[in-house]
Amino acid sequence: MSSDPASLAEIASCVSGYDADALPVAQAREFIARLVPRVQAVERAPLRSALGRVLAHDLISAIDVPAQDNAAMDGYALRGSELAASGDTVLRIAGRGLAGVPFTGTPGAGECVRIMTGAMMPAGLDTVVPQEFVRVDGERVTLPAGAVRAGDNRRRTGEDLARGEAALSAGRLLRPADLGLLASLGHAEVAVRRRLRVAFFSTGDELRSVGEPLAPGCVYDSNRYTLWSMLQRLGVEAIDMGVVRDDPAALEAAFRNASACADAVITSGGVSVGEADHTKRIMKSLGEVLFWKLAIRPGRPMAIGRIGDAILFGLPGNPVAVMVSFYAFVREALLAMSGAAPMPLPMLRAASARPIRKKPGRTEFQRGIVTRAGEGWQVELTGAQGSGILRSMSIANGLVVLAHERGDVAAGEPVDVLPFDGLI
Ligand code: AMP
Ligand code: MG
Repeated sequence: MSSDPASLAEIASCVSGYDADALPVAQAREFIARLVPRVQAVERAPLRSALGRVLAHDLISAIDVPAQDNAAMDGYALRGSELAASGDTVLRIAGRGLAGVPFTGTPGAGECVRIMTGAMMPAGLDTVVPQEFVRVDGERVTLPAGAVRAGDNRRRTGEDLARGEAALSAGRLLRPADLGLLASLGHAEVAVRRRLRVAFFSTGDELRSVGEPLAPGCVYDSNRYTLWSMLQRLGVEAIDMGVVRDDPAALEAAFRNASACADAVITSGGVSVGEADHTKRIMKSLGEVLFWKLAIRPGRPMAIGRIGDAILFGLPGNPVAVMVSFYAFVREALLAMSGAAPMPLPMLRAASARPIRKKPGRTEFQRGIVTRAGEGWQVELTGAQGSGILRSMSIANGLVVLAHERGDVAAGEPVDVLPFDGLI
């Protein structure tokens, strides 16, 4: 990680419109983008383990793919110059070429070669006529005028990737097609950035872990499960540090351990205004931490900063707020820390099925169900939108993102929806 980071005050001074007590989403994102360092260490991963990892260097193709001209169809390879302008073209079959077993001779004038998809084009032949367009009579092939044009149905050398061309850029989050592309270039392994380590724990005396009995006034800790799951989807190494009681010594030990072993520490709970517990005090005493009031709903309070070399994301405790804050801020930050090039998430424009109440001056992330409607999309809210109602996230298939400035939404008005598919 980088050696001489800017102080939080310096970072804040670079963000225009920064106001820790009413921070718009865009300013918070900009602050975080300036705050987070990138993993530098590089390791080699076998191809299959590279799925979801971040490519460390530009990858230049050392070969042409395909390596030679080959047939794109099953049929007959011929010389385009021998196609009759009108009337039939009649050719003699000189032999055959299969994928991996090329025709090695040199066809003479008036000859064609029976050829299969992927087979190397025989010397001098540049066109393939699909087999369904021809009539075959022993060794004679007849094709009607206009069946093909010269050069048709031939894949050119290097048309997928030419030697020396950049196949993939550094920072690429490797996806299935990329693994295939790497394999097509013959790479058995690839240089990727070290996997990001993210430690997380829940704070609160009322929390019980699954498997424990639930005492009166207590709730099961669900945040560790949503956080773990969201981190899995990002491909980072998630380190679960359990529930930490509202006890100064326990909190201090947890923050010290987490920041010593991880690049980022995510906590939930204990960062609200007027919070009676020790979480905020301990965060502040161990590192450089700001306590934001975000212009967002849900998820207003958030702590951000550094403890040791680790970046701290102190998320609110409410289960929906945890998920929304994660998708609004943490996901993008962790991807940047992993070395991934920015990749904005695609948004849908959907017509709101009903009116939605919305106050200007904050970004709202409401839970919605998007369905296809005619040529476009329609979205309906999931019902009660309380930040403790985790079921609203469970039954939703997207977040309705209502921009900072906008007010109430009328029925039928278009809104932005961040679909969960590809995100979750
Ligand atoms: P806090 O931000 O600590 O004030 O917590 C806000 C609300 O979220 C309270 O009702 C907490 O009980 C609840 N909460 C906090 N942490 C968790 C958790 N890990 N799992 C489920 N609910 C939580
Ligand atoms: Mg609490």
